[in-house]
Amino acid sequence: MDLFEYQGKQYFARFDIPVSPGGIADTVEEAVVQAAAAGYPVVVKAQVQVGGRGKAGGIKLANNEDEVRLHAANILGMDIKGHLVERVWVEYASDIAEEYYASFTLDRAAKKHLLMLSVEGGVEIEAVAETNPDAILLRHIDPVDGITLEWARQAAIDARMPAQSVEGVASILVKLYRCFTEGDCDLAEINPLILKPTGEIHALDAKVSLDNNAEFRHPEWAEYRETEVLDERELLAREKGLQYIGLQGSVGIIANGAGLAMSTLDVVNQVGGSAANFLDIGGGANADLMSAALEVINYDQSVKSILINIFGGITRGEEVAKGIVEALNRVSLRAPIVIRLDGTNAEEGRQILLSAGIPESVLQSKPTMLEAARAAVAIANAN
Ligand code: GDP
Ligand code: MN
Repeated sequence: MDLFEYQGKQYFARFDIPVSPGGIADTVEEAVVQAAAAGYPVVVKAQVQVGGRGKAGGIKLANNEDEVRLHAANILGMDIKGHLVERVWVEYASDIAEEYYASFTLDRAAKKHLLMLSVEGGVEIEAVAETNPDAILLRHIDPVDGITLEWARQAAIDARMPAQSVEGVASILVKLYRCFTEGDCDLAEINPLILKPTGEIHALDAKVSLDNNAEFRHPEWAEYRETEVLDERELLAREKGLQYIGLQGSVGIIANGAGLAMSTLDVVNQVGGSAANFLDIGGGANADLMSAALEVINYDQSVKSILINIFGGITRGEEVAKGIVEALNRVSLRAPIVIRLDGTNAEEGRQILLSAGIPESVLQSKPTMLEAARAAVAIANAN
């Protein structure tokens, strides 16, 4: 789950990372109140989950109430790269001497945490990586060992931070790493991390992505769920309790188990198609769940074919088949189904589908994942 900047800063503040005083506003009047509380001058910042807000006109400096009114009125309701601005964050404006970059993420391939640190902040790190990759320090961390202040100091020195910034940057790195680990983040990024003319180091932006799998130990995340940006398909899926992620392609995918679902996406890609979604109906899926999954897929206008890939273990073939028959009775599917049904009670499942008398044009069965993917992609690409 991605947080808005203001939520990320509140999260940072819990770990003692210095951020500017400020407040959130969804009207011009509220922005004026927040500005007065923060103290002038302030920056008015569009709250959307996309980078490059400054360039898009979504970040403005205001020296007085009139300027806050003007900027808040302009920014609220603005469209930034397809994201509607519904709220602005108003914070005390900082003087900037230098802009750095710092982040912690998980490097899955290395099975380690990864620090990225650069003296070239304020611009998107992807751009720095392209034009000046040597300016980014990459350093792995063994999650068992964690980091120490001494380690962080060395990282700051190796990233060629100026001497006066080393101590402040190191101290923030230790706090940011605690936020990343204890705060259960997938990503904790500060860009820019600034040096003020007074010598202090300070977080001017916050990009935090929380690890959904850790939600059970964070009841306080409920408030972030309320403002979470989901597309309509994802909202419907959540209502139905499905593990669903919307994608851009045309083959709707239903599989049991996250691993099988991901393999299915890969195979669809391999044979020249593209998936419209990731959907894992989980182990032990029953008829209700299968029918709910089909409803969510059917809601997606870009789906041209539906690939159901089930390898029954705890999930039983006949339950899957019953769910499909039930769904076909309930909703009229806009796209044909190709199914690969294998494993526990697969034969019983196929019998149920057969005796339901579903025409080939609505549902066809294939013996392997590859053949099923080929058939589904052929249909999707022909439409
Ligand atoms: P992003 O472009 O969406 O990542 O938004 P940021 O929050 O990173 O802000 C973009 C840029 O606006 C920063 O790199 C700064 O140069 C500038 N900016 C943001 N806040 C302040 C501030 O308090 N004072 C000053 N002088 N500039 C700011
Ligand atoms: Mn930024």
